[in-house]
Amino acid sequence: MRPLVATIDLAAIRHNYALAKRCAPGRQAFAVVKANAYGHGVREVVAALGEVADGFAVACLEEAAEVRAVLPHGRLLLLEGCFATDELPEAARLGLDLVVQDAAQLDALLATPLAQPLNVWLKLDSGMHRLGLGADAVRQAFARLRQAPQVGELNLLSHFACADERGHALTEQQVEQFLALLDLEFDQRSLANSAAVLTIPAAHMDWLRPGIMLYGATPFAELSAAELGLRPAMSLTAQLIAVREVAAGESVGYGASWVAARPSRIGTVSCGYADGYPRHAPSGTPVLIHGTRVPLAGRVSMDMLSVDLSDLPQAQVGDAVELWGAQLAVDEVAQAAGTIGYELLTQVTARVPRRYR
Ligand code: PLP
Repeated sequence: MRPLVATIDLAAIRHNYALAKRCAPGRQAFAVVKANAYGHGVREVVAALGEVADGFAVACLEEAAEVRAVLPHGRLLLLEGCFATDELPEAARLGLDLVVQDAAQLDALLATPLAQPLNVWLKLDSGMHRLGLGADAVRQAFARLRQAPQVGELNLLSHFACADERGHALTEQQVEQFLALLDLEFDQRSLANSAAVLTIPAAHMDWLRPGIMLYGATPFAELSAAELGLRPAMSLTAQLIAVREVAAGESVGYGASWVAARPSRIGTVSCGYADGYPRHAPSGTPVLIHGTRVPLAGRVSMDMLSVDLSDLPQAQVGDAVELWGAQLAVDEVAQAAGTIGYELLTQVTARVPRRYR
């Protein structure tokens, strides 16, 4: 087998979920498991959290069906609502909590008789301007839905644009917009993503919606996962599959973009951009061998990448290479590559086997 594996530590995910709950005593939390549980494997993550999580959240009906295959009951929130009217009966059959985020979704819900009522979460656009109804439209929707037979609980939800940038003025405005609607008697309220769970108690409301923190990565640029007490859930581990000497002045990889400044020892690693490693990661991005950070040398290829082993003479073919994981935070790699941990985790491709422990 090709030596590349993503090892998923399910106990770490349970630890991180418990940490989210400890941040907001007495509140409930939807574990956000969209995008294949941020790349970690939705079925395994849901099974691991099934006993402890108050509920789960996904982005679409297909993902909801996958969760239901593992966990037939319990709260499951469809974060963007139904994309088409004909999805509503299926949403009711699956017993989902349904976001309603625009007038078309509202009209469709009111026009569709359902076998059983759904818990509805009206989504307020409190300032992100991506999805959601304005405050007046929320008030009108509240009045229309309050007595509708399709509706079980009638709840309010919104989403932060900048909670990961501490002290951002927009966050305060978004909280104010949200609070200004609470004269309406919603059954439940939800506002906090991971960043808000960790740092904005005023946003905790009734239901948290932690995503990235469950997987042991940080939503913040300046606050590491370790500082937050999070445990990394995914270790992406490859192997050194070749080692060679190159003379000063010789280049490595496509485009000959890395040129040896001295006689160098170059290692070839069994992981490339077709596995989800970011192709744009520049030379110098760290990987970990024998617990030591070693820099990328040259462009990432489809199935391989190269590293400069000149300062690690004991490294040899067959040695394990951690691309990110327990000892090298995915956030550090993401920062070096000019992206965020979210992107790296969700982009690990299907050809990388996941192993669970
Ligand atoms: N709530 C909504 C509506 C989302 O779209 C997301 C993720 O993007 C989350 C919660 C979880 O956010 P995070 O992963 O930053 O905790």
